[in-house]
Amino acid sequence: MAKNFSRIWIDNFIADFEREKENLGEMDRISGDGDFAINLGSALKLCAAALAEIKDDAAPAEVFGAVSNSFLHTGGTSGPLLGMWVRDVSKAFSDQSDPVEALATGFTAGVATVQRIGGAQEGDKTMVDAMLPAAQALRSAASDGRELSEALRNAAQAAEEGAKATADVAASMGRASYVGDVSLGVADPGATAIGLFFRSGVAAAEGSEA
Ligand code: ADP
Ligand code: MG
Repeated sequence: MAKNFSRIWIDNFIADFEREKENLGEMDRISGDGDFAINLGSALKLCAAALAEIKDDAAPAEVFGAVSNSFLHTGGTSGPLLGMWVRDVSKAFSDQSDPVEALATGFTAGVATVQRIGGAQEGDKTMVDAMLPAAQALRSAASDGRELSEALRNAAQAAEEGAKATADVAASMGRASYVGDVSLGVADPGATAIGLFFRSGVAAAEGSEA
């Protein structure tokens, strides 16, 4: 049975993470405690195992639900926050079938959840700095009736720009805030991973529309 875009997205992200993990680990070594890539790698291992247990053509709600559970069972600050973020996306896909609308609703709710739990505001140099612009891009794409691949391209670009901008500020949340100006010049690993995540989604959407 053919995999739908959500499954291809996660498969892509697992592969893309393998290529970027050294870089992400180094960012957290400079500004945090160095375990970010280890935490994300553990979550994605659980994820791959969980996805192997569900049908190839499982609906996005089930795919994102499996991803969420894997993150929720992983340590670090990032595990639970990412798990709750994706949980809202799974819920949105349970409520509606239009993918762009579901992504807009899910990622908008998801970043609000992350902010409620973690307390980070835009500009604190966290994953929120990539999640917020991505959610806004998805919301605009849904309002404008854009195709899935265009919506995800806009989200990826917004997330990558948000992540890049985190290099210009010192962290005011999380472990990176303990090292003051040491984190200046280095982008936040969490935000960078969010950019990578949406970029993996672009390739999935383009592939499944082709
Ligand atoms: P830990 O700080 O527990 O070692 P990780 O290394 O797993 O956590 O994750 C670090 C990432 O978590 C950071 O790069 C940042 O993006 C994100 N982060 C840290 N604190 C917060 C917070 N309060 N809200 C949102 N994201 C946060
Ligand atoms: Mg860390």
